[in-house]
Amino acid sequence: MRLVLLGPPGAGKGTQAGLLAQHHGVPHIATGDIFRENVKGGTQLGRQAQAYMDRGDLVPDDVVNRMVADRLDRPDAAQGFLLDGYPRTVAQAEELDSILQARGAALDAVLRFVIDEADLVARIAARADEEGRADDSEEVHRNRLAVYREQTAPLEEYYAAKGLLRDVDAVGTVEEVTARAEAALVSARA
Ligand code: ADP
Repeated sequence: MRLVLLGPPGAGKGTQAGLLAQHHGVPHIATGDIFRENVKGGTQLGRQAQAYMDRGDLVPDDVVNRMVADRLDRPDAAQGFLLDGYPRTVAQAEELDSILQARGAALDAVLRFVIDEADLVARIAARADEEGRADDSEEVHRNRLAVYREQTAPLEEYYAAKGLLRDVDAVGTVEEVTARAEAALVSARA
């Protein structure tokens, strides 16, 4: 299974991604997690990404695309993967298409986690308290939402036009949302 998850920051994508990946036996590839590990480890990639992340801006496409192409070439991703946080721009989506095409593969579905902004702001405030992520401060989160609206939301149309997009109501318990996501996957693959 080759799956992309879309949804604004705070929609609960990461939690659902972990559960879905485990259930389907594919690696959970979260570009934000990979960047955070690199920042922590002080790598060159981490140094390239950190300033963008701290502001809630997107890391430049060429940096992200190269990192994802490398990750998808690892053997565990040969039979499938779940991408969480990538693509985030139309240019990234086009690059993903060409990466997959070159490998004779294609996406099975794109799940969009749907939630309104008032719920998001409340969730992020709670996560900022629990996890202490630097980019969860109110101001940076507001910028991340604006970046989502401007740069990532256009992907919804891009994937809808390909018949891949399925909506998942992201308001509810973790279990409820997982059940909806699984149902959406069944409908996408029917
Ligand atoms: P969230 O899902 O809460 O928005 P992520 O963990 O996915 O956060 O990403 C955190 C940060 O990492 C982003 O704000 C951005 O700076 C960077 N990042 C992650 N994925 C990408 C991507 N595909 N393109 C550009 N920047 C990215």
